[in-house]
Amino acid sequence: MLNSLMKQLSFGETGEVYVLDSEGYIVTASSNTSKSEEFVNVPMKTEIIQRAKTGSTSNDSYIGFRGERVYGQYKWSKGKNWVVVGEITQREVFQKLNQLSAAIIIISLIALILSIGAAVTIASRIERPIRYLLRGTKIIQNGNYDYQIDADKIRMAPIELRQLVNTFNIMSDKLKKNISLLEHSALVDQLTEIHNRRYMMQEGNKQLQACIAAGQMSSVMMFDIDHFKKINDTYGHLVGDRVLHHVASILQRHSGTDTIVARYGGEEFILLALRKNAQESVSLAEDLRRRIMEEPYSDEQVTVRLTASIGIAEYSPTLEFGTMVLEDMVSRADHALYRAKSGGRNRVELDR
Ligand code: GH3
Ligand code: MG
Ligand code: MG
Repeated sequence: MLNSLMKQLSFGETGEVYVLDSEGYIVTASSNTSKSEEFVNVPMKTEIIQRAKTGSTSNDSYIGFRGERVYGQYKWSKGKNWVVVGEITQREVFQKLNQLSAAIIIISLIALILSIGAAVTIASRIERPIRYLLRGTKIIQNGNYDYQIDADKIRMAPIELRQLVNTFNIMSDKLKKNISLLEHSALVDQLTEIHNRRYMMQEGNKQLQACIAAGQMSSVMMFDIDHFKKINDTYGHLVGDRVLHHVASILQRHSGTDTIVARYGGEEFILLALRKNAQESVSLAEDLRRRIMEEPYSDEQVTVRLTASIGIAEYSPTLEFGTMVLEDMVSRADHALYRAKSGGRNRVELDR
């Protein structure tokens, strides 16, 4: 009965249970211990027997009776006549463990790959708009103030970043408008709405140099309203301002496309007649002087008759005043203007 009971006690592929007497002789064994007969006449001397005899509780592996490394446990019967031993090979234990480890590693790898994929997707959704924003700020820094980021390109980005890009676009739009306004007001005279002295010194000078390089003659006219102070004194500054606007508008309308007109300051205007020699400039100046006389300023209350004096200087390669050609021409035109004033006003004088 004991034998048939024991036969059922094998486990796994290599697990087996056997019963020894106190001397180490085999009494009975599970079905796996098929060759246990060989120990019938010889006492078993494996480590588990030593552990059983010394009462050791070690769990370490040892060489079993088949010569293979095993794990084993023992249990003495009451009275210590018999000892029951259960053993399984280390190979089988580790095979199971290895299979489990492999499964764990594969699952971990899959999880890792999935999370890397998710991380890359999330990162690119955040990184892309940031890259566009960075590029946008660099473009703006380089002076392209109205640069807009294409919102379609960041459709997948988180809402906060899309809002940031939208704000960026609104900001660059405003920036462009404000800068254009600033650029305009830096070069245009507010009162007369024609170009100012700064524009003449920048753009006028550039165009004058181009004419000189092309071997073309140019002239500068200094235009000054006669007895303007008296106009202010008689009609008030507000009318004086309107007269300035009126004169500026006549000069702008009748100077032709090759002439740059600017308010030089006060009631003085400067005209740069490009591609015109002294004689051509004098006839243009005479025409303007006549128009000023013939077109008085008038509103509902007053009519103000006007005259102006004009001094002209032609381009000369040898500079008499200053270090710049335009400066020299302005100074010489100023001297001619002085002569026009002292000669009785309402006249044109050419620098000699
Ligand atoms: P002249 O014939 O010698 O040129 O005499 P003038 O009175 O025109 O010249 P003056 O230099 O004695 O006076 C210029 C006046 O222009 C003085 C100043 O008050 C006036 N003025 C300068 N700028 C403005 C301005 O923006 N608006 C007004 N209303 N007056 C101005
Ligand atoms: Mg003056
Ligand atoms: Mg004057």
